[in-house]
Amino acid sequence: SGVSNSGVKGRSLSTPAAASTRVSAPPVRKSTTTARENKKSKKNLVVLGSGWGAVSLVRSINPSQYNVTIISPRNFFLFTPLLPSATTGTVEYNSITESISGILAKESSKSLAEDSYSRYLEARATKIDYTNKSVAIEDITTHEEHSVPFDYLVIAAGATTSTLNVPGVKEHGLFLKEIDDSRKIRARVANWINSGKGTSLQAVVVGGGPTGVEVAAELQDLFEEDIKKRIPDAGPDTFKVSLIEAMPSILNSFDKRLRKFATLQLQKDHINLLTNTAVEKITDKTVYAKAKTVLPDKSESVEAIEIPYNMLIWATGITTHQFIREFMSTIPEQKDSKRGVLINDDMSVKGVADVWAIGDCTSSKYPATAQVATQQGTYLGTTLNQLATVTEAPDSTTTSTSIAPFEYHHKGSLAYVGGNRAVADLQLWSDGKMSSMGYFTYWMWRVAYLSMFVPAQNRFLVAADWLRVKLFGRNINTI
Ligand code: FAD
Repeated sequence: SGVSNSGVKGRSLSTPAAASTRVSAPPVRKSTTTARENKKSKKNLVVLGSGWGAVSLVRSINPSQYNVTIISPRNFFLFTPLLPSATTGTVEYNSITESISGILAKESSKSLAEDSYSRYLEARATKIDYTNKSVAIEDITTHEEHSVPFDYLVIAAGATTSTLNVPGVKEHGLFLKEIDDSRKIRARVANWINSGKGTSLQAVVVGGGPTGVEVAAELQDLFEEDIKKRIPDAGPDTFKVSLIEAMPSILNSFDKRLRKFATLQLQKDHINLLTNTAVEKITDKTVYAKAKTVLPDKSESVEAIEIPYNMLIWATGITTHQFIREFMSTIPEQKDSKRGVLINDDMSVKGVADVWAIGDCTSSKYPATAQVATQQGTYLGTTLNQLATVTEAPDSTTTSTSIAPFEYHHKGSLAYVGGNRAVADLQLWSDGKMSSMGYFTYWMWRVAYLSMFVPAQNRFLVAADWLRVKLFGRNINTI
């Protein structure tokens, strides 16, 4: 669909941002003097990304105060917590995505200002030039390069998958970060089901965090609830899921009791769980790993093991995007960062002015989760609203230091562990934690996710998918 302008409300005006890109600029119309003056004082806010951080920022910013440009190669918001479910057809992709132009149009419609301006550019940022205040972008469709100037820039481009330098992962592994990754896994399973060659599917999932556990659990559910009906003589060797984790336990960020429950649940569901197992190398058919055993005298024995596979899902490790690394390498204050962009308490990027960063692309004390990215986005939106008011007041003596620092409020963690069971570590109040597991928690997990969707349409679609699967099973032909 190429670079597109969308969500423009009120009069279409030529703006500095639109003029310097080779984007087909909106028609220039005569505006009143007042509108032009307002326009001048209104800052061009460029947001890189269309994920959790960017969307929560856009939803909390006052569209009357900024000209917002979202730049992202992905023209939709993806509800990542349900991506493992989409991989096996428990929910559909349409149900867990929201169009960015739709979000922008809705947010812009809240603006009272005639000259409100917001747009989405389907492009990838390739370079941030903070000295000249511009971002170089590459159009996703035409691959043409443009330059987009900004007054304020928010980097919310997330992170990318990392192979953790394990040989063979890039060549033979499937990832689970974006919809395209999920589709590849879905296609692989569907091909196997429909090939009718009588071969077995040996799935190996690497990474015992929530994503790895959930995708392993969803695959096993698919086998138990749907594939077995289709292939009645399918035995445990027909479809085998192995989950490999380098640490002694899966779901390491969860309470000990929940980790134990999850382990037992996966084992009960016949998932081959290999903890204390570090993957060393992957070839086209085999995973080579070192399995550690702690002996009763606390000494360790390490054994080299080989796990045959025909589908490998790499569900561990994220790393910083190359263009962000290049940006950081030009800023002395960023040189010591081992992970992502170093930020101050107000999300401003250390060492540069008028640039902020939120979410997985940052290096902070917070985990790389949707919960953190969302709260940072909301915080930054509110902060930028405040900043716009400060800038507009000519006699203002307020500076950015008067802005309250970001505070993260952890609400808890949830994970689906298969067989209609889930685990939840809930933070009820600042010192009050509650752990919950089992069937009831599975319903809580579902309700929590439904409530996290902003549009009612997504809630309806996801609930309808769950009902459809309950009544008729997953559509194995097309998964
Ligand atoms: P993202 O949401 O990843 O968004 C990054 C955006 O930047 C994307 O739109 C991307 O297209 C865009 N982008 C990429 N490159 C460029 C570029 N060069 N220029 C411009 N834009 C670019 N977290 C939880 O809290 N709970 C969960 O249950 C949970 N489950 C998960 C399940 C899966 C399968 C995955 C993959 C993640 C899960 N997470 C979960 C983690 C959560 O999704 C991330 O922490 C969250 O997405 C981070 O938000 P973000 O805005 O920083 O980045």
